[in-house]
Amino acid sequence: MPRQKSTPRWGNRMHVRKGDTVVVISGKDRGKKGKIIRAEPATGRVVVEGVNVVKRHLKPRGKSMQGGIVDQEAAVPSSKVMLVCVRCNRPSRLGRTSLKDGRSVRVCKRCGEVVDR
Ligand SMILES: [Zn+2]
Repeated sequence: MPRQKSTPRWGNRMHVRKGDTVVVISGKDRGKKGKIIRAEPATGRVVVEGVNVVKRHLKPRGKSMQGGIVDQEAAVPSSKVMLVCVRCNRPSRLGRTSLKDGRSVRVCKRCGEVVDR
């Protein structure tokens, strides 16, 4: 079934972003932990290192690109991952709060730590 790229299912704001360490909460990679390599807000998906690894069959393109079968991460829905809090080191739900300077930041609902720098 083709994925609809034009209609976002989850809107454009995700609870996780590039560089976050997350744990997968469902599916074949449940329990795996990794860093977000890429976020795709348009589709509500994220690519996590070591998660949802698929075999890509590549055709050789020119001299520099050899063909063959390579392992590569495929995107997973952001709803299937939870952020691992830097302070309590556990998968946590996130809330939002505003700082004094007006910035909106994410906070860990478990320990109250601000997750964003
Ligand atoms: Zn925490």
